[in-house]
Amino acid sequence: MNSTARRRALVSGASIAGPVIAHWLARHGWAVTVVEKAPTIRDGGYPVDIRGPALDVVRRMGLLERLEAVQVDARQGTFLDADGRTIATVDMSDVVGDVRGRDLEIPRGALAAILHDAIPDGVELIFGDSIAALDDHDGGVNVTFTGGTRRTFDVVIGADGIHSHTRRLAFGPEERFHRHLGWSFAGFSSSNELGLAHESVVWNTPGRMAGLYAPGDGDRVFVILGFSSPSPVAHREPDAQRRLVADTFAGHGWRVPGLIEAMHAADDLFYDSVGQIHMPRWSSGRVALVGDAAYAPSFLSGQGTGIALIGAYVLAHELATRASHVEAFEAYESGLRTFVETNQKVADVSRPFLNPATEEELARRDQTLRDPSSIPSGAAVRGANDSYVLPDYPVPVQ
Ligand SMILES: Cc1cc2nc3c(=O)[nH]c(=O)nc-3n(C[C@H](O)[C@H](O)[C@H](O)COP(=O)(O)OP(=O)(O)OC[C@H]3O[C@@H](n4cnc5c(N)ncnc54)[C@H](O)[C@@H]3O)c2cc1C
Repeated sequence: MNSTARRRALVSGASIAGPVIAHWLARHGWAVTVVEKAPTIRDGGYPVDIRGPALDVVRRMGLLERLEAVQVDARQGTFLDADGRTIATVDMSDVVGDVRGRDLEIPRGALAAILHDAIPDGVELIFGDSIAALDDHDGGVNVTFTGGTRRTFDVVIGADGIHSHTRRLAFGPEERFHRHLGWSFAGFSSSNELGLAHESVVWNTPGRMAGLYAPGDGDRVFVILGFSSPSPVAHREPDAQRRLVADTFAGHGWRVPGLIEAMHAADDLFYDSVGQIHMPRWSSGRVALVGDAAYAPSFLSGQGTGIALIGAYVLAHELATRASHVEAFEAYESGLRTFVETNQKVADVSRPFLNPATEEELARRDQTLRDPSSIPSGAAVRGANDSYVLPDYPVPVQ
């Protein structure tokens, strides 16, 4: 770019995609402001995966070694029937499609913290605030913050997750873009009563799934209680969420009653319906979306973090190297749409495997477990990753 004035970007959201955009735009000389609703970087959370081309993003940011040092590793998964009897124990790589020794699984909070550290000095970080209004015009976007401040930016990037507020302001209500995948879940941590280490345990009956995940050999496990739900469940209030999950799992065997008790006691309950975001366009005027805000694939794909990293990397470089935001947004979208849609389709393959909805689906899934080479989700993830090569962009002058 020959322009002498520094171009100004506002990035909404400082989790995965947000810090990556901020890192690269700042390195390319942009004036970057990041606004994050939470009072600080959100810590904790389940492990997420960085595979294939997403590894190239963190490698080019110089973060690979730090991430390797905090990686966790699930080696095996045991699938149980309604009474808790083992159906099969399989290598988790066959299920999630990672390549052992190359791909990374990182606790989400650790990844967010490392990406946050990679935001260069000079980027303005505003925590505990949010965009209240956007006015997109020829010369820029006038932004009013919830705290009352008004500023003007050349572009606004929404990296604020599946329930993106930026999307609501610039594109319309979430219902237009949200595709419900037929189930809901409660996630929380619990004590590791089974003494699990580097492994998952998945219990199913038709339309119900209880998953326990011990990424290491510590005394806590991540629990997911998932269940079929024909429409997104709208409860926002945690007590109502807990009651619904408890009622849904009432009367079931194995360790389910203990898990319900653990859910009631948990202080980190996370509850949502499982869905994806599908948008006809990822940008409107000077506003663009990235990561879950634009194309959440759902955790069933195991690729949400990867495509958020890749999307942020590509969008930042297109903005930095194209003559205008119009060209940049077009190149970002045309370069990534097929890859993103391929990743979103992984969820259709994984859902009947992890949460069979009917007796027939469950029987088919159990049959698959007897021949792990036929597990479809691992192959789908590998195929999706292999379908994209991260572009080479000019490396910015430091
Ligand atoms: C239970 C579960 C398990 C998952 N497992 C995996 C997995 O195994 N592998 C994987 O790759 N992915 C997984 N994911 C998905 C992964 O977490 C997301 O795809 C990924 O974090 C997307 O990153 P993002 O930066 O786009 O959005 P997010 O990580 O959602 O970040 C959005 C940020 O925006 C902030 N924000 C929200 N609203 C506003 C606002 N109004 N103003 C300012 N800031 C705002 C939020 O506080 C947050 O910091 C899982 C998700 C869930 C829910």
